[in-house]
Amino acid sequence: MKINIGIDGPVASGKSTIAKKVAQQLGYIHIDTGAMYRCVAYMAMQAKVDIHNEAQVSALLPSLHIKLHSNGSIECNGRDITSQIRSHEVSNAASVVAAFSSVRKNLVIQQQKMAQEKGYVMDGRDINTVVLPDSECQIYLTASIESRAARRYLDLQARGQDVNLDIIKHDIQTRDYNDMNRLDSPLKVSQNAHVIDTSHMSIEEVVTQIVTLAKEVHND
Ligand code: C5P
Repeated sequence: MKINIGIDGPVASGKSTIAKKVAQQLGYIHIDTGAMYRCVAYMAMQAKVDIHNEAQVSALLPSLHIKLHSNGSIECNGRDITSQIRSHEVSNAASVVAAFSSVRKNLVIQQQKMAQEKGYVMDGRDINTVVLPDSECQIYLTASIESRAARRYLDLQARGQDVNLDIIKHDIQTRDYNDMNRLDSPLKVSQNAHVIDTSHMSIEEVVTQIVTLAKEVHND
């Protein structure tokens, strides 16, 4: 019998990369919920909507049709926006729109429908606290601000973006502050979470630890 695995954690803690690999090893489906908040932010920016205005952002929601493809590409209203949603501006805007309850409500319903059956690895900020509180394997990934900033720096550089380490560090801290202090579904460690500090771990080590934990739950 399959289970659901929820992975929460702060910015650049490696959630999506690790969730994707865990899913591959177990033959599960990976759902990157951050990509959905990024889509809302990107489409709002494209529509020249004031991203700080909840009424304006939420008015767009009924017209957004987000698809997360199994190859990792992200589609919204028939357009492939996989690379566009990874920009620095969209990252910052995503944490602004993610504080709006109307946005959260809309996306959480979609996420819960996606993972109705078991066999999903879902990553985000509120997976184990709100979206899938019954997930059998709950993980909270964390890492020092230095290692997270360095990872994000290399990641953005590899995507050909012009980046500055100090700005990245500042943005990560601002987004974490927003995510941890918003009123609706702030990022926090769920009661049943296994906390893994990835600062000094390789991606493979973290993946192996989560797969081992998942198999233990599975065999219980
Ligand atoms: O994970 P990622 O950095 O792509 O997420 C982008 C933003 O979306 C986060 O900074 C956070 O504000 C928001 N988010 C959220 N809840 C989730 C996933 C992401 O609030 N489940």
